[in-house]
Amino acid sequence: MVIMPGAMLGVLGGGQLGRMFVQAAQQMGYPVTVLDPDSGSPAGRIADAFICANYDDPEALEKLGSQCAAITTEFENIPANSLRKLAKSCVVSPDAYSVSVAQNRIAEKQFLGINGFAVAPFAVIQQADDFADQDAAELLPGILKVSQFGYDGKGQIKVSSGAELLAAYEQLNHAVCVLEKFMPLKSEISVVVARGSAGEMQTFPVAENQHVNGILDVSIIPARISPQLASQAQEIAGQVVKKLNYRGVLCVEFFVLHDDTLLINEIAPRPHNSGHYSINACVTSQFEQQVRTLCGLPLGSTAQLSPAVMINLLGDVWRNGDPDWNIVLQHPSAKLHLYGKAEARTGRKMGHFTVLNSDIETALSAALHIKQQLDQS
Ligand code: ADP
Ligand code: MG
Repeated sequence: MVIMPGAMLGVLGGGQLGRMFVQAAQQMGYPVTVLDPDSGSPAGRIADAFICANYDDPEALEKLGSQCAAITTEFENIPANSLRKLAKSCVVSPDAYSVSVAQNRIAEKQFLGINGFAVAPFAVIQQADDFADQDAAELLPGILKVSQFGYDGKGQIKVSSGAELLAAYEQLNHAVCVLEKFMPLKSEISVVVARGSAGEMQTFPVAENQHVNGILDVSIIPARISPQLASQAQEIAGQVVKKLNYRGVLCVEFFVLHDDTLLINEIAPRPHNSGHYSINACVTSQFEQQVRTLCGLPLGSTAQLSPAVMINLLGDVWRNGDPDWNIVLQHPSAKLHLYGKAEARTGRKMGHFTVLNSDIETALSAALHIKQQLDQS
């Protein structure tokens, strides 16, 4: 079914990804309804209609379903059942199955394993006994990660000994976890891919990602890797969406080992932080692509118009009050994006900026210089 501009679209979740989806949809002439439990959510503030409710509230879902032609989500922790319910009355993408796989690290790793995708060695920890049973020692040093609801490095603890592992398990309140071997990384990269209802696909350029404390800090696009490795990553991302029979936008995050082996770290059934550069640097942004896949429109070109570097603005930058935005704005090819979040907490994603330059190293040093000045302001 093709849904033309003018029809109301819906999004579950009102964070910054939802906000940038709303902006892309509105630009194309689609009004949007946002559902989010937070009355001041970044997307809710700019939506055409806002439903303030929990994601499993039956009346709210009913209302959303009745007023929208098609519904998407901006984060993976939506109850898959809510998507299943909505799918009875309107187009829903991504589907409940894909979201249920991506929202649970165990289901995700099982899906990847069954389909032959390489992941880091891991063990599932359901109870304290599992540490002994599964010979956890071989996975040390490792990272203990809660199986659900972790994000931006939250719900994960690095451990180097059996004693630390038990302490970490206590600290995570005995939640079901995966223990992953800590991998020596050459780099981290990601690929955003869009797939339409007829199986057509468009893959974005590969992003090279630098994390600090488990949170994305800098993305460099295109990644400074060999063309062979870049096509291999794009090929794998394409296979992942095919295997999921996925409709929508999805990101595959990879670890690159020192011998250029690619391991899948995780998949996100939505646009991704490492794809934000596409708003300013590609013919079609990842959010416009989300609108297109949702509405059954032809996919747009993902061609990159300029090399780009994106830097996240975390709440930390606000530690001395509002930053001096002139530092970003005075650069003629830096693009500032702020998400309209009222409270700037440490580690909270408040915005980002993207610097464009035909030379990627020039873009990177300009972006890092801006970031450094912001940190000192
Ligand atoms: P989140 O869901 O919070 O993004 P990730 O599992 O992607 O969690 O981990 C966040 C970051 O922590 C990764 O991007 C990587 O930098 C680091 N990390 C996670 N797991 C490993 C690992 N097994 N080996 C090395 N680094 C890791
Ligand atoms: Mg991650």
